[in-house]
Amino acid sequence: METDTCSIDTTIMSNNPELVGIGAKPERTIVDVNGVKIGGKEIVIMAGPCAVESEVQLTETAKIVRTKGASILRGGAFKPRTSPYSFQGLGVEGLEMLERARKETGLSVVSEVMDTRQVETVARYADMLQIGSRNMQNFPLLKEAGLTSKPILLKRGMMATIDEYLYAAEYLLSQGNTQVVLCERGIRTFESSTRYTLDLNAIPVLKQRTHLPVIVDPSHGTGVRSLVATMAGAAIAAGADGLLMEVHYRPEEALCDGSQSLYPEDFEKMMGNLRKIAEAVGRSIHAL
Ligand code: PEP
Ligand code: MN
Repeated sequence: METDTCSIDTTIMSNNPELVGIGAKPERTIVDVNGVKIGGKEIVIMAGPCAVESEVQLTETAKIVRTKGASILRGGAFKPRTSPYSFQGLGVEGLEMLERARKETGLSVVSEVMDTRQVETVARYADMLQIGSRNMQNFPLLKEAGLTSKPILLKRGMMATIDEYLYAAEYLLSQGNTQVVLCERGIRTFESSTRYTLDLNAIPVLKQRTHLPVIVDPSHGTGVRSLVATMAGAAIAAGADGLLMEVHYRPEEALCDGSQSLYPEDFEKMMGNLRKIAEAVGRSIHAL
């Protein structure tokens, strides 16, 4: 079964932004993160802790995800936390840990930037800049990040429509940065049995409306560890080009998002299933 992303419904093309719109270029964009290509036939797995917490936590987790099939290491050094009293991340020290983990494992690194003043610093250490859900419409940040030459992972705002999301991506492209990956991470709905509602519709909608790669974050999208693997599989079946997921070597000790972080054994089991689902839709999981 091939996921059909080619037949384009022209009725939803009409108000696409100029540069991100599907009509802007003949071929789909492939984003190259240090040699790892996102948006082609291969599905890219980005995994790691929510936050960088310590050298041991990061290296142990990085080694696990690397061995089990991830290509990119995630981990926030600057964390957007609801409460100002919660752990805010290790900042530059955390970025240095990510750099050492990259050297040790060969994984590329994606890390969040929350403020225009952090762009230069995060870009010095990370291979890909993450712009989080809460900052999807932080226009000065989008402009500043769009001026860098680093690939950008732009997460969907939890209350953003697809139109708003595409215009946020347009900000990045309009500054000259064409290396943009979109990430559906769940939206706010009336449903309270999960942290957010993972909008699987967004995958085919975005793939019809834009040439940019689309990945999915089932960790924030559900907020519940036991649901993550199922929704990861669903995302691949629906045509996602990659996954961003939280894995912790000891989730019960996590300083952030432990209850949605996979145990190493969950991650390994899930990866086995994802390989089969990828094959069923004519794709494969990228291996380093
Ligand atoms: C994250 O990925 O660490 C994160 C904070 O996600 P979001 O911006 O989607 O809430
Ligand atoms: Mn998190």
